[in-house]
Amino acid sequence: MSVVFHSTRGLAPETDIRGVALAGLAPDGGLYLPKTWPRFSPDGIAAMRGAPYQDIAFHVLRPFFDGAIADDDLEHIVEKTYAAFDVPEVTPLRALGGELHILELFHGPTLAFKDVALQFLGHMFDHFLRASGKQITIIGATSGDTGSAAIAALAGRANIDLFILYPDKGPSEIQRKQMTCVEAGNVHAIAVQGSFDDCQAIVKAMFADAALRDELSLTTVNSINLLRILAQIVYYFVAASHFDAPPSFVVPTGNFGDIYAGYAAAQCGLPVAKLAVASNSNDILTRFFATGRMEAGAVQGTLSPSMDIQVSSNFERLLFDLCGRDAALVRALMGEMKGKGSFAVSAPQFAQAQKIFAAACADDEETLATIADVYGKCDYMIDPHTAVGVKVARDLAATLTQPVICLATAHPAKFPDTVRKATGRTPVLPENTAALIGKPERTVLLPADRRAITDFVRKNGAA
Ligand SMILES: *Cc1c(COP(=O)(O)O)cnc(C)c1O
Repeated sequence: MSVVFHSTRGLAPETDIRGVALAGLAPDGGLYLPKTWPRFSPDGIAAMRGAPYQDIAFHVLRPFFDGAIADDDLEHIVEKTYAAFDVPEVTPLRALGGELHILELFHGPTLAFKDVALQFLGHMFDHFLRASGKQITIIGATSGDTGSAAIAALAGRANIDLFILYPDKGPSEIQRKQMTCVEAGNVHAIAVQGSFDDCQAIVKAMFADAALRDELSLTTVNSINLLRILAQIVYYFVAASHFDAPPSFVVPTGNFGDIYAGYAAAQCGLPVAKLAVASNSNDILTRFFATGRMEAGAVQGTLSPSMDIQVSSNFERLLFDLCGRDAALVRALMGEMKGKGSFAVSAPQFAQAQKIFAAACADDEETLATIADVYGKCDYMIDPHTAVGVKVARDLAATLTQPVICLATAHPAKFPDTVRKATGRTPVLPENTAALIGKPERTVLLPADRRAITDFVRKNGAA
């Protein structure tokens, strides 16, 4: 039986995985979710122990793609996708001494965990579009890593025009160069005079315009695209397969996509003790999990720029479950968020959220101290996003049952200034990235204005 997908806002037609992948955001402004999650049995999960990443990926992803893509094709896509990673384990697990385990998710082409999902999505789009001969326009907002990972996955693909919006002062130099030192004609990196939330709001507004969406065949590769979440579920199964006891996961969080994949893994039957949301000074989620009240503030720039987010899109997916899958209630709460910048959940909803989630935050000073401490004690460099997670893991040690797995979301060499400041050493950039960033940059600076950006997309796309 193939999985059917519906929207958190309840006003979009149900669809299959192909429809979900190519639409990104549902036409009613909601996010797609499976109507029922496939469940893996304890025996099925036990059989994953010691299996190669690709095998686990195939088994975990197969039920979602059943009926839309042949098993052979899925297997082939999974093989191709993870051949682009520079270690055979794809996402190796490291014991850092003591009780900390680090899941290294940064072995893909752009050195951040987003490659794990976007490389897969690139191949999947190619598969779906090649058959139909359709042309699509992909618009994405990025604080740095999504953009570079999307460009690495989609550059040169014939049926896709890719426009990436990033805050002009947001990304690190390497993140920016990974987006701008790319020659492919189908790639357009746009520096927006504003914050990540401004970029995301423009993308969302463009999607909300049905006529524009049809005119350009708009799609998104932000983590509102469920395909990314599905690909990320895999490494929770892979990581847990190393242990007998259900692990706690600590996840450096921005848009709530990565940690939601952990929640989804649990919905698919994976035993998970706790999911800890780690935030930087943009601590809206920490406050939510302490009070039940979501209240956006102004975005603060930090040393972990990929988490400089106040409004986390994927939270709506969790909210849908907290609301008992009542789409009208989700619409009402999201309406409140849009209208007055806040909403609160009921006491039972809050209790349900606290059952599986914990949350804490770390500021820049703690981030630097944690990078320095881990380097001093373990001779191991972590990037500032991972450091937020490690600090939170330590702060929540009393709440998190063992084993505790911290997701390492970026390679330390992606943030060399911060790592050097903390450790006195410059992390070494892998060779292929070093070669890329010597090339000339190609970008355009535009105001945080939806009309200016729409005009640019119309003029520069092939669709
Ligand atoms: C995107 C990103 C995050 C945040 O992930 P979300 O899925 O948006 O919560 C954390 N760390 C790094 C390095 C990232 O690139």
